[in-house]
Amino acid sequence: MMSEDNTNPVLVAAELSKSYGEGHTRVEVLKGLNLTVMRGEKVAIAGASGSGKSTLLHLLAGLDQPDTGSVTLAGHEITSLGTAETGRVRGRHLGFVYQFHHLLPEFTALENVAMPLRIAGRSLDEANRAAGEMLGRVQLGDRTNHAPGELSGGERQRVAIARALVTSPDCVLADEPTGNLDETTAEHIHDLVVQLSAELGLAFVLVTHNLSLAERMDRSLTLHGGTLT
Ligand code: ADP
Ligand code: MG
Repeated sequence: MMSEDNTNPVLVAAELSKSYGEGHTRVEVLKGLNLTVMRGEKVAIAGASGSGKSTLLHLLAGLDQPDTGSVTLAGHEITSLGTAETGRVRGRHLGFVYQFHHLLPEFTALENVAMPLRIAGRSLDEANRAAGEMLGRVQLGDRTNHAPGELSGGERQRVAIARALVTSPDCVLADEPTGNLDETTAEHIHDLVVQLSAELGLAFVLVTHNLSLAERMDRSLTLHGGTLT
């Protein structure tokens, strides 16, 4: 077991390559990409549509495998682990926020946020208490029993953020989390991301085209030609 003190990077991608298709339809998306994210560090990633941003986040989360290279999350090289073990490491260390909230429509906000804790084996009481507390942090303490369909777009995205944070991850990956929202609502979410990152010591890897958000991160990178600059 490696130590996980504050001087260690939380996420290291080394020489990642990924292509799709074969023969003349083959597309090389990532070509020897390197990325190191320190604990508590906030990194913005921009890049043209189709440049491979979502592909990169999926590899960082261990949801897909690179052709070559490695991903190390909180000291665990997930690219060398099996699916079940990768899932356990992801569940303990990583949160994920998508452009579209991916909340389960038939469950309440509280149940959606409690879900990752229930999956991790926590009791219903404990999961609900932590979910309620996290919904309070994203200023939705008065919406716990609403279904996603009864919430606004910005509220749904805040529930999705609460769900990503409820397991106390070390790092949150967010794929254009405000790409779907109006400017004012997006700005509120940006405030929340910066505030929660500081309060919880969370690292963020954030794919965004929003310049005002990118400027509030510690580092801003661009994915181009299969590498980050
Ligand atoms: P971005 O998120 O930056 O818009 P993506 O990572 O979604 O880009 O896609 C990068 C490139 O890889 C695109 O050309 C896309 O068509 C291709 N691609 C993504 N996923 C697949 C897949 N599962 N099969 C084949 N091609 C894919
Ligand atoms: Mg994408």
